[in-house]
Amino acid sequence: MSLRILITGGAGFIGSHLADRLLGEGNSVLAIDNLATGHVRNIEHLAGHERFRFIKHDVTEFIYVEDKIDVVLHLASLPSPVDYLRKPIPTLKVGALGTHKALGLARDKGARFMLASTSEVYGDPLVHPQPETYWGNVNPVGPRGVYDESKRFAEALTMAYHRYHAVDTRIFRIFNTYGPRMRADDGRVVTNFIAQALRGEPITVYDDGQRTRSFCYVSDLVDGIIRLMHSTEVDPVNLGNAAEMTIMEFADTVHRLTGGRSEITHVVPTDERTKDDPQVRQPDITRARKILGWEPQVSLDEGLGRTIEYFRQLFAREAA
Ligand code: UDP
Repeated sequence: MSLRILITGGAGFIGSHLADRLLGEGNSVLAIDNLATGHVRNIEHLAGHERFRFIKHDVTEFIYVEDKIDVVLHLASLPSPVDYLRKPIPTLKVGALGTHKALGLARDKGARFMLASTSEVYGDPLVHPQPETYWGNVNPVGPRGVYDESKRFAEALTMAYHRYHAVDTRIFRIFNTYGPRMRADDGRVVTNFIAQALRGEPITVYDDGQRTRSFCYVSDLVDGIIRLMHSTEVDPVNLGNAAEMTIMEFADTVHRLTGGRSEITHVVPTDERTKDDPQVRQPDITRARKILGWEPQVSLDEGLGRTIEYFRQLFAREAA
């Protein structure tokens, strides 16, 4: 059955990949984005597509849409630590007010609502790996609190709309996802290291590089989101790749895959970017495996290879 799907954050990294996949499966997509961190470059190939439409709009303001909508996929967010340190109030607003508007729209349209939540709801976790049943260890007044608490609020609001307004809801918690169409300047470890390596600049490992992350390629995440959309699962579901590594190991991998021209350096950031930085992060994906029959397919070497190639071409285009 073909669905009419609205994606907030539809010009963003993950939103645009979702749009591609959903259109490819015969659905209609209405993408909404204020282009704060998204970019028209991510959706320009969809211009003129008969089942795709784009509206530039800030979802913290009332969302007016005449179309019938079957599913609201709420991805609008400022998910990069560097962005939310720079723009703490817009981060809180999109997580809180934006989610309120998107839920209100879903309720009005009788649509299913899907919230893009995050592993940051677990904060600097004291349980490892993190199952959905873990309530987290978040510092509400630290620099990351603006993002973490906005997403925790968004989850609470989503469940309240489910319980009190009977909105059919889904919540997925995204763990460090990467791939083409990330922003080169989003300050995250994947883009920083790739951009540095391709420019022949030093790869900046913060502190001793012993913190861990688990990296998921975007096509695997998109697959998990679509499986969840077609499921009946209301409780939160972790979506991520369980292959955990230290940031130092990740730097070595980027170094190797880019031809090893850059040196790897250790940097101690003087701003607040590593304050409350989770020491470890690894999703427990037992539920996603069981409920969705989902398993990440793309290895880090393969996914990073494709991502590096994307940035190689992007930088060549920008230089031309
Ligand atoms: N990091 C790093 N060098 C960089 C950027 C990030 O060592 O140039 C570290 C950061 O301190 C964190 C990890 O890499 O421990 C992942 O950071 P990212 O900003 O990608 O997102 P997070 O997983 O913290 O949300």
